[in-house]
Amino acid sequence: MSTGFTQRLAHTQALLERIATEFTPAVFASSLAAEDMVLTDLILRNKINIGIFSLQTGRLPPETLAVIEQVTTTYDYAIELFYPNPQAVAAYVDNKGIDAFYDSVELRKECCHIRKVEPLGRALSGKAAWITGQRRSQSSTRAALDEQEHDTAHGLEKFNPLADWSEEDVWHYIRTHSVPYNALHDAGYPSIGCAPCTRAVQPGEDIRAGRWWWETPESKECGLHVVDGKLVRINKSN
Ligand code: SF4
Repeated sequence: MSTGFTQRLAHTQALLERIATEFTPAVFASSLAAEDMVLTDLILRNKINIGIFSLQTGRLPPETLAVIEQVTTTYDYAIELFYPNPQAVAAYVDNKGIDAFYDSVELRKECCHIRKVEPLGRALSGKAAWITGQRRSQSSTRAALDEQEHDTAHGLEKFNPLADWSEEDVWHYIRTHSVPYNALHDAGYPSIGCAPCTRAVQPGEDIRAGRWWWETPESKECGLHVVDGKLVRINKSN
């Protein structure tokens, strides 16, 4: 637990309650990762009026699907699931291949658009605010993360109530409150997304280095083999 944890926890809880009061309806987009389980516990334990949803991309690992069931069992709450448009998925799979995202950044972004971005837009439609579990210290790309920002793309307020939490804070909360969490975290996965696009990271690597690792120079040094721009072998243990 980092210094100031008690104050950060109290601030986060007060912020969630303020969001529920001032931005109705507000929703929490849960990726079912550790940070998101902290927010899930805070919302459901304190009966804060914020709906929780997840994007069921169709490529989630079984360990992540198990967390959805654990939330139901633990809190008697059903996370709302948003699925991709089946025709768009079928067209991508038929025309490009189910794992075509390995072939180029463009095809990866197209897959993410079909399975995540478009369903997210549907999930946020008509909402006043949405919440994420992002933290500043998760990666260099999140170092400047604000606790509150205006999401111009979706036209609503966006809150990151754990922006200043450390990884230590997250795990302290999870252990203290016996919060269910994704078993992949115990297998070296600090950040978890779709199964084919997530791998474990090595000690010292960026927390998000295991996501779309083939698009980063570091990961290419860890056992990936790219020939003519195409991924030809993936070693998930690297
Ligand atoms: S993370 Fe991978 S499988 Fe999931 S939507 Fe993006 S490209 Fe597709």
